[in-house]
Amino acid sequence: MSHTGVPLTRATTFKFTLDVNDEQHHRLFAHAGASRLAFNHHIGRVKANLDQRAAERSYGVAEADLTPALSWSKVSFINEMNAWKDGRAPDARVEVLDDGTVVRGLPWRGEVSTDVFETASVNAAQALKNWSDSRKGARAGKAAGFPRFKSRHRTAPTFRLRSKYREGAAPSVRPTGPRTVRFPKLGELRVRENTRQLRRMLGSGRFHAYAASFRFERGRWTVTVTGVAAVLHHQRRNPGAAGRTQSRVGLDVGVKTLAVAADEHGNQFQVWEGVKALQQAQARLKLANQALARTKRDSEGRRRAARRLGRMHGRVAAVRKALLHSISSELAKGSAVVVIEDLNAAGMLRNRKLARHISDAGFGELRRQLEYKSAWYGTELIVADRWFPSSKTCSACGTVRADLTLADRVYECGACGLVIDRDLNAAVNLARYTPPAQPSGTKPSPPLPAAA
Ligand SMILES: [Zn+2]
Repeated sequence: MSHTGVPLTRATTFKFTLDVNDEQHHRLFAHAGASRLAFNHHIGRVKANLDQRAAERSYGVAEADLTPALSWSKVSFINEMNAWKDGRAPDARVEVLDDGTVVRGLPWRGEVSTDVFETASVNAAQALKNWSDSRKGARAGKAAGFPRFKSRHRTAPTFRLRSKYREGAAPSVRPTGPRTVRFPKLGELRVRENTRQLRRMLGSGRFHAYAASFRFERGRWTVTVTGVAAVLHHQRRNPGAAGRTQSRVGLDVGVKTLAVAADEHGNQFQVWEGVKALQQAQARLKLANQALARTKRDSEGRRRAARRLGRMHGRVAAVRKALLHSISSELAKGSAVVVIEDLNAAGMLRNRKLARHISDAGFGELRRQLEYKSAWYGTELIVADRWFPSSKTCSACGTVRADLTLADRVYECGACGLVIDRDLNAAVNLARYTPPAQPSGTKPSPPLPAAA
């Protein structure tokens, strides 16, 4: 609940790319280093404790006489970390400075936000809980292994700060201008994107920030502000209300184009060509790949080529994501019902070589975006049965052409003579798709969660 009484239930994030100078970069790096140190400290203590107990057991020590097990609770980790870094713990670091003074704990602790130590402690406790739940069979999904130490070289530098709210004071994480965001301890940092939406939503009490997560990847820092927002206004949520131009739309992830949306009357609603930027980025990625292959092992040239390749991968991913967001937003906002094909059906029908602009992973991401945006805007999302022949069916007479191949860019019907773009034909069929009837009294089952 916000201070204005609006219920805040919609989890959302704001992501910014930071523009930092050298000094700020070093401060961010120091924060990430502290986060890694705190995480590894906990994992190391627990591992040593477990090893000690295992060794004692192997010598036949009775269960009651073993070295006591450490608590893995978040609170005990936070308390332990504070005592350790402040030099109050028995195992605290001791350093003797040049002038002979003895410093207990981390001498530089004051330069890093206390939050970093606390959130890293929480992460370590959670990682250990995931591992132990997984061993007990109490955790769904992929088995979690024993947490790995974070490495300076292999792990991307990350850390998290909490956003604090004090009565009568501005939140500790807040935009201060169109391109600046203020953070505790770090002060004001420049960002590349406009902060207007975040500023407005914080100002009106329609967003409450929980935390800011920093990450250094591919040569730049990004920050993701996570929190909860008010549900969208009912006029924007109500299907058929202002702004909705379509009642029912089918979306075909195209062979020829990126995607085509059409209604059940055969009208094309929207085509996303949009592949040019993606193709250009992909062409540059290919060149960067070839350049890397030509370099010698362990050479400076190889390191440079690898950095360039990393940047190109990032660029392709960013372009693809932006395209998918524009498709999912337009559909969720602009129509009352959206029908998409099943991922597996799409995978069976198309081969990689023929312009799979979006790729299977991209299709999963598109479906994930459509799922949460449909919930935001009150749009109904229908996923067609995987056996529904959206591409092979004639949208005029309903005849199914079993011999349609990927090379056929135009659908020609031998029965009624219809000649139509193949992607448009598939989109029209999807718009007309009705899910198999459910037993009366039950609601249609919700769509399956998207593949991770
Ligand atoms: Zn026909």
